Amino acid sequence: MSDIKRIIEKLIEFRNERDWEQFHNPKDLAVALNIESSELLEEYLWKKPEEANKESVKEELADVFAYAFLLADKYGFDVKKIVLDKIESNGRKYPIDKAKGTTKKYDKL
Ligand SMILES: [Mg+2]
Repeated sequence: MSDIKRIIEKLIEFRNERDWEQFHNPKDLAVALNIESSELLEEYLWKKPEEANKESVKEELADVFAYAFLLADKYGFDVKKIVLDKIESNGRKYPIDKAKGTTKKYDKL
């Protein structure tokens, strides 16, 4: 079993032990994911990037991953596959010869 699948199993075990699946519909998982990513942003608010507390960043990032994995599981998505597919698709959108060293969006390349 892959590491990602093992993590998702642990998350589901944690959730089911608390009878929280009833609250974990896709919409609320997406909302929770957004809130956790905002908590991550809050770690950087009014600071230089290097001033963020690394331990807090680590914890908020873990929360983001947890909700992202739970949402992917809700839809039966294979996390490894969807991320690898997206990297491939981004590679087509951002060819190296046009995208290297620029932050331009694909439609402005
Ligand atoms: Mg959090």
